[in-house]
Order: sequence, then structure tokens, then C-alpha cells
Amino acid sequence: MQMGTVFQASTAVWPSQITLVDVTPRDGLQDADTFVTTEQKLAFINALIESGVRHIEVTSFMHPKWIPQLADADTLASRLPRVPGVTYSALIPNMRGYERAHTAGIAEVVLVVSASESHNKANLNRSIDASLHQLTEVATRAKADGIQVRGAIATAFGCPFEGAVAPEAVIRIAQAYATMGVDQVSLADTIGVGNPRQIYTLFTQIRTELPANMPLAAHLHDRSGYALANVFAALQAGVTSFDAAVGGLGGCPYAPGAPGNLSLEALTAYVEAMGFNTEISLPKLASARQQLLNDLAHGEPVTSGHSMRQTETASHHS
Ligand code: MG
Repeated sequence: MQMGTVFQASTAVWPSQITLVDVTPRDGLQDADTFVTTEQKLAFINALIESGVRHIEVTSFMHPKWIPQLADADTLASRLPRVPGVTYSALIPNMRGYERAHTAGIAEVVLVVSASESHNKANLNRSIDASLHQLTEVATRAKADGIQVRGAIATAFGCPFEGAVAPEAVIRIAQAYATMGVDQVSLADTIGVGNPRQIYTLFTQIRTELPANMPLAAHLHDRSGYALANVFAALQAGVTSFDAAVGGLGGCPYAPGAPGNLSLEALTAYVEAMGFNTEISLPKLASARQQLLNDLAHGEPVTSGHSMRQTETASHHS
């Protein structure tokens, strides 16, 4: 009887349509051991579009020193092919990043703050409140410029430094994003520690705490094979947008041991099986992946931006 109740509650929010966002050029490459050149990234993005992908997170406008793999953000963004129906987004840590993205013609920005203080410090070198203060200014500017804004919350289901993250910490940031007027709130399982029950519970809680109809997104990493079960749990909680990367590439330079992203191929097949129409061609996606893996295998080695970052962070704060 109890299961029947749960199912009834969830069918009320099960989405009729979902959006799949490929984050390979950003989250798939930001921790890579080798450089993928701007030309290679553009070729890959074209291959994604050819495969039917319509939403692509192309880069991150962090300081180039912190993430050398994405140091070409400005050039890449300004050279993206303009294709009707294709939306490019980019990760924005602060106002400077926003200005660079806007100048380069990016139409959708992803703001990010972590739900745990120590990850926010490692990732952005400031407190959560300082981040929210800055991001409020960025969101205000973006709205005035007619730019779409996604508000992402990293480490929403667990932190590499602090372990468990209180749901209240996530809800507080989600509410701050709603107050800023973001177009969507995204919860990220940055290190892939979330389980389906936790995903369902937190998204359901967030949905009830936020203004009605605030679109919700999930950014999942895949540890222990939980990611697809987490997708189902998120769907039951009314989540309508999912990030993924081809071949499950990626990690997080500031989250030690972070596993790869949810695989776009696995996600596509999974949601197609459940009746969603993605319009993504898996054979074409496979050749896009092969091309990128080949570029990665033959690229110049990257000198780690993240060890450099940790040294500087330590020297600023010790
Ligand atoms: Mg990630």
C-alpha cells in the first residue's frame, strides 16, 4: 500500500519531456591529462551536433591558470558554429568570467557554488556567502543582458572533504538562486556518492521549497554504477534536465577521486527505453567519442593546474 502511495505521488511530477545536456567539452575535459586543441574541440562539438545533441556546455570561464585544459575558453566560445536550435552554455565562477562569456557570445551561463564550505574554498577560493553575493550581481547583470541563467550547486549529495552534506545547506543555496531569478536550479553529485533514495528525497524537498515550476536539473557522476538509478529517482522527483558526457569522461580537479560523468550514451539509451525521444543518434555519438578519445590519446601532456592551484591557495591562506 505504501509503495502505491509513493508511485502515485511520483507520477504527478514525472516529466513528459526532458533535456539532455552534453558537458563533455567542459566537465569531460577539465581534468584530462592531455590538451585537446581548440580546433579539435570545435570538431567534436560539430560531431555532437551532427549526432543530434542540442545543448552543450562548452567550457568554463575560470582563470586560465587554474584549468589549463580550458584556457582557450574565449577563443572556443567565439568560434562556435551558430546552429538553429543549438544552445551553448558555459560555467561562470564570477563577474569577470561572466563578462568574458558574454563578450564571446555565450547565451546561457551556469553559475556554480558548492554546498560544502571546504569544496567551495578549494574550487572558488571563497566562502559560500561570498560566492552567493558575487553570483547575485552576475545573475542581475545576466538577466539585464537577456542571458539564460542556470544555478548549479556542487557537492549537493556529498563532499570529498566533509563527507555528508546537510540538505538544509543545499536548500538555502537553491532558495538564494531562486531569489536571484535563475531559470533553473541544478544539483550536482560532484563525486558520485548520491544514491537513488537520497536523490529522490532531496530533489522532492527542493521542489517543494522553491517557487512552483522552477525547472530542476541533475548533474550526476557515476561511482559504483548508481548513476542510472539516480536518473530514475530524479525523474520521479520531477527533474527535467540531465547533464552527461560522452564515454563517461571527466572528474573534478578540485574533488579528489571524483569519478567520471554519467555517460551520455548510457543516459540516451536509458531514457529512450523509457519512452523519451532524445533525437540523438547513438552510432553518430560513438564516432564523436572515438574522435575525441583519439585526440586525447595523442594530445600534449598537461602540467597540472590543480597542484599549482593548491600551492597558491595554501600560500594565500596559511
Ligand atoms: Mg561535474
